[in-house]
Amino acid sequence: MTTVRLPAREDLVGLSPYGAPQLNVPICLNVNENPYRPSPRVVEDIAAAVTQAATNLNRYPDRDFPALRGALADYLTRESGVPVSGDRVWAANGSNEVMLHLMQAFGGPGRCALSFAPTYSMYHEYARDTHTAWVQGQRNDDFTLDIEQAVATLQELRPAVLLLASPNNPSGTALPMDHIRRLLDVARTSGPTIGGHVSATVVIVDEAYAEFRRQGVPSALTLSAENPHLVVTRTMSKAFGMAGLRLGYMVADQAILDQVMLVRLPYHLSSVTQAAALAALRHSEELMEQVASLRAERDALAVWLADNGFSVTPSDANFVLFGRLPHRDEVFRALLDRGILIRVVGPDGWLRVSVGTPEEMAQFRTALLEVTR
Ligand SMILES: *Cc1c(COP(=O)(O)O)cnc(C)c1O
Repeated sequence: MTTVRLPAREDLVGLSPYGAPQLNVPICLNVNENPYRPSPRVVEDIAAAVTQAATNLNRYPDRDFPALRGALADYLTRESGVPVSGDRVWAANGSNEVMLHLMQAFGGPGRCALSFAPTYSMYHEYARDTHTAWVQGQRNDDFTLDIEQAVATLQELRPAVLLLASPNNPSGTALPMDHIRRLLDVARTSGPTIGGHVSATVVIVDEAYAEFRRQGVPSALTLSAENPHLVVTRTMSKAFGMAGLRLGYMVADQAILDQVMLVRLPYHLSSVTQAAALAALRHSEELMEQVASLRAERDALAVWLADNGFSVTPSDANFVLFGRLPHRDEVFRALLDRGILIRVVGPDGWLRVSVGTPEEMAQFRTALLEVTR
């Protein structure tokens, strides 16, 4: 066979695809999944729903899936106490795709997106893939936001999109409501100037881990109604225990949804996904039953880490970032040798561990002491 030279995009040359290692080890604490499998009852109901959907697979799926959007809105209303209606909800194959849609709709050449590091590394890829300039400010050493610096950067940079993870990954840090409010106020007029008119910055608050937040930490959903430039994204991948389903969603103003409709592929959400997600949502209470114990397990882990001389960041998510390890790669590998997979992420000297079952956490604690003493 003759070889050809592919017209690979210059900015992609030499890059490797994103993704945490998927290794077959006994204890996976690396991608913040819910460690509990769906019960046989839930599995049966999902299977029945998928069977039903299969009878219609010769047809394209419902493009606008109002039933699923309504069910997601009901779930959010129950979870957050904020009334949400289905016409303000949009979903895609994971909240990663939701955020990519938003970047396709509001980013692009000549525009820029802003975030504050360390944070979720996928944000940078959405920017790259949509040819949106990417600017990363820095968080404080304790992973909180320097709000004055953030405001100044917004005003100076005039980004089309601001991406804020709350709780943040990899630190677990939730943004205080007054910071989000302040940023939303400034963002009303901090976007690019278009045709002589000042626009807003679209503020995406990525709440992938919101269900794990501690008592008293509110969701940005409470600010949704009065902020037409706010998008709150959620996912069924984490607390909901459905990472394999690939279903993420957002709550936003109709005008934002209208823009997103322009860029999404037609029929992007398969009938199978819609049916399975709807069935899973019927069992949301059961699927969320473990969230309280995962939260308690997280808090116990943070206390244990601190008691044993590690640094820990206060976490509102289902993982804990801990340090300071002079040789974090060695610790990571020594744990892996003991069948425990965690994640090398965050600033040098820190590692992130997801919260698993009590048995998994007990093994993690024993192994960590062995490999660091
Ligand atoms: C896991 C995670 C998501 C969720 O991604 P999905 O595509 O919904 O699985 C989103 N944001 C952050 C910061 C995450 O860590």
